[in-house]
Amino acid sequence: MQRGQGRSDRRRMAGGRLMVKSTLPPRFKVSSAPRFKAVEVKTNTGRHRISPRKRGYDARWDRLAMAFRRTNPYCRFCEQEGRDSLADVTDHILPAHEYPHLRYVWDNLQSLCSFHHDNLKQKLELYARKNGLLDKLVEWSADPESRPVHLRPIPK
Ligand SMILES: [Zn+2]
Repeated sequence: MQRGQGRSDRRRMAGGRLMVKSTLPPRFKVSSAPRFKAVEVKTNTGRHRISPRKRGYDARWDRLAMAFRRTNPYCRFCEQEGRDSLADVTDHILPAHEYPHLRYVWDNLQSLCSFHHDNLKQKLELYARKNGLLDKLVEWSADPESRPVHLRPIPK
């Protein structure tokens, strides 16, 4: 009891002394310092922000992917559309996530331009996953006419 009273007296005194200063806006904000850290944390969250190394893309993959593209320099999907575009992605036809034993298998690879890899191939994978048709990706990748109607190339 006595202690409590003592504390409240001190607080009151301190309050009284700081009264004039406290009407001014604070000059410092303790929480403003680590703003850059919040950004750093954000970039490391989310499924697609995991580093390639952690997803299993190691030195062995780098060598294989480069060798594959040297042998197959053009985008497979662009070729199917009658164009020759240099590929910049070596793609797993059957995704390595679901088919880890095919990660380093040459016949499971195809060269794609980043546009086709990031758009059409992602759509094909998404559709295949949703409908339990992942094994169809082999056929869909080889023959555009075999793809679900909405994912076929637009006829010229
Ligand atoms: Zn392409």
